[in-house]
Amino acid sequence: GLAACGSGTPGGSSGGGGATGGGAAEAVKVGIKFDQPGMGLKEGSTYSGFDVDLANYIAKELNYTPTFVEAVSSQRETLLKTGQVKYIVGTYSITDARKKDVDFAGPYFIAGQDLLIRADDTSITGTDSLAGKKLCSVKGSTSAVNVQKKVPGVNLQEYNTYTLCVDALKAKNVDALTTDNTILAGYAAQPANKGQLKVVGQTFSTENYGVGLPKGDTALCQKVTDAINKWISSGEWQKAVDKNLGPSGFKPGAGNPPKPAACGASSGATG
Ligand code: GLU
Repeated sequence: GLAACGSGTPGGSSGGGGATGGGAAEAVKVGIKFDQPGMGLKEGSTYSGFDVDLANYIAKELNYTPTFVEAVSSQRETLLKTGQVKYIVGTYSITDARKKDVDFAGPYFIAGQDLLIRADDTSITGTDSLAGKKLCSVKGSTSAVNVQKKVPGVNLQEYNTYTLCVDALKAKNVDALTTDNTILAGYAAQPANKGQLKVVGQTFSTENYGVGLPKGDTALCQKVTDAINKWISSGEWQKAVDKNLGPSGFKPGAGNPPKPAACGASSGATG
């Protein structure tokens, strides 16, 4: 029989704007983070966060029915290369190294790397004060790479997820967690951590978030880029900031919202 999709409305009035013509929605797997409050969080069967809102917006625009899959930092390229997900919205920084394996639509947000420490710690005030300290970050993240460049010889433990780092920080097994300020603000504001953790507030990198895509699918890149542009120009981007990052008091830094790059454009030496 035919696939019974309850939401199918004749004429496709859901604002798709694409060339798909209002047919049945395509079921797709979408990678997000599951443990980053404010960005990508799974609680039971409920998903929330800024990235989740964009993932859902893209799905609506492209006439997809998304099923969310956890995309931990070190697995993102593999998930895309093996076709296990159609796209990833997961605090995923656009980098030249990653562009060898995957494509990106975006940027849709600009974050910066910072440090999360225990609230009563006055000894860490920035990357200059990490000598003799134990630091935590996540495998496969730009955060782990950046901090080792910035502070050669830093004592860094790399875990699989940021929540494991938060646990280690609270248990005093490490002295700081380093990753994007967006993610850190979410942890500091979590009820379970409130008053126990603080963000240092000295960012030391620029993280351009993109939607991760399989390499070479220019048509998909174009559709996702169109969706991002519409998300920003319609005011939904700002709404998603207020809803998801407002509660932690996080304010997007300079350059936000960014202008997504053209698909297939190589960001070469001529800037
Ligand atoms: N944005 C950085 C990255 O893509 C850190 C956050 C993350 O691991 O998701 O590596």
